[in-house]
Amino acid sequence: MFGWSPNSTMYRRYTHLHGTDTDDTFRALEGVEMVEDKAAASKVLERRRCLNCNEWNGADALYCLKCGSPLDEAAAQALLDKRRMEEDLMKMYNELMKLQREKAKKTSL
Ligand SMILES: [Zn+2]
Repeated sequence: MFGWSPNSTMYRRYTHLHGTDTDDTFRALEGVEMVEDKAAASKVLERRRCLNCNEWNGADALYCLKCGSPLDEAAAQALLDKRRMEEDLMKMYNELMKLQREKAKKTSL
C-alpha cells in the first residue's frame, strides 16, 4: 500500500485504526463532543433526524426542535388525533353559537 511494506512503521501507524477511532471521527465531524461514558455515547448515536428539515434531535424527542414535525409514526398519529379533536371542538362551538343566535332571534320577536 503506497509503496510501504506491511512491516514498515508508516504502514502500522495508519492500519492500526479501529472502529472506535472512526466512530470518534464521525462524532467530531458532526460537531458532537466526545463522550467518555459509553451509555451516553450510544445515546448520542441514537439521535433522530427530522424527515422534514434534517435537523438532529435527541433520542427521546417526539417532535423536531427546529420545525415541530413529528419524528415517528406514533407522534404523527398523536398530532393528527389532537388536530381532529380541535376540529370537532370548533364544530361544536360553532353549532352552539348558531343555536344561541337562533334562540336570541326567537325571543326578540
Ligand atoms: Zn424538523
